[in-house]
Amino acid sequence: MQIADRITSMPKYLFAEIDRLKWEAKAQGVDLINLGVGDPDLPTPDFIVDAMVNIIKHKPATHQYPEYDGDPAFRASAAAYLKRRFAIDIHADRELVGLIGSKEGIAHFALAVANPGDVVLVPDPAYPVYFMSAVLAGAEPYRLPLLEKNSYLPDFSAIPADILRRARLMYLNYPNNPTSAVADIAFFREAVAFAKQHNIVICHDNAYAEITFDGFVAPSILQVEGAKECCIELYSLSKPLNMTGWRVAFAYGQEQLISALRKVKTATDSGQFTAIQFAAMEGLASPEKTIERMRGIYTARRDRVVAMLNNLGLKCELPKASLYVWLGIPPGFASSQDFAMELLASQGVIVSPGVGFGQYGEGYFRISLTTPDPRLDEGLERIRKFITSAKNQS
Ligand SMILES: *Cc1c(COP(=O)(O)O)cnc(C)c1O
Repeated sequence: MQIADRITSMPKYLFAEIDRLKWEAKAQGVDLINLGVGDPDLPTPDFIVDAMVNIIKHKPATHQYPEYDGDPAFRASAAAYLKRRFAIDIHADRELVGLIGSKEGIAHFALAVANPGDVVLVPDPAYPVYFMSAVLAGAEPYRLPLLEKNSYLPDFSAIPADILRRARLMYLNYPNNPTSAVADIAFFREAVAFAKQHNIVICHDNAYAEITFDGFVAPSILQVEGAKECCIELYSLSKPLNMTGWRVAFAYGQEQLISALRKVKTATDSGQFTAIQFAAMEGLASPEKTIERMRGIYTARRDRVVAMLNNLGLKCELPKASLYVWLGIPPGFASSQDFAMELLASQGVIVSPGVGFGQYGEGYFRISLTTPDPRLDEGLERIRKFITSAKNQS
């Protein structure tokens, strides 16, 4: 029996060790606090849930096969939302496709644009799906280091010429997971100019566009003049509307790229459940209240996390966006993995070791803001104890 090279060549799952420890601790009845996952803890707002109940009960046509690329009404609603939110004009039929979550769109997009042997530029540290997408397409992922000294933006001038010649696709993600860095429109302008010069397509993952603080407004790469010649962007309802389990998102931008993605999807899936798309339309029609409320909750959590870490002498600034606080591991630990494993073993608190997001994440760790307040505070107290006792030992 043979297993395909594309599967056996997948990088090792770097959270595997943590997962093993987690299950062991659970089996022993340890009261675990998980500050590792980025999955909103609050429920989907009632007005969306109520719409879903109503639709599924009274619109039996939604129980049949959906449109492969999103219901026309959903696509129109998504395009109208993009116009309101980013002031961009997207043609709902030609330039937009519905997705079963943006993870699906990311994973399929490399199949739509990269040939075997092409290079795909992937940020590092990053959401692991960009890298996997390149591997599944038989392309060669090339890591763009996101370094603290560059505010976690890629340095395009550092990419070797032979890589650039073969590069066909670049993934970007701002506001960023895991570093919580943000990009302004000037950076996107630079990225689009670079992409055009080297005949590269950009897929910008805007999953955290609404998870922003202190008045920061995240841009769309499609606000850059000419971006529609070489870019697509992904927008997901998962994070802004607490809908991670519903799997609903959309991709929009350059027409042929959207068309190619639609072909991959038509060949592999049958579209999102129409009732979910209709309920999501309610969310897209009036997301503001939910987003405002969630921003308030995440801002308060962020402030508490950062204040506690700073009190311990760990340097970290208030992130302007995302669901994460990202910072260097305390002195005295050999690696991010060691730090995370010792914290888990001694205090039952799970954080994400930076190396799990790629080699350039080594030396850092990520705390997620998606844990209910009392548990977050308990987790912070345990981290304080752990770091204080580690300090006293050294
Ligand atoms: C959470 C997240 C997403 C959202 O994925 P969905 O599949 O839409 O739920 C996309 N990109 C990044 C970087 C994320 O962290």
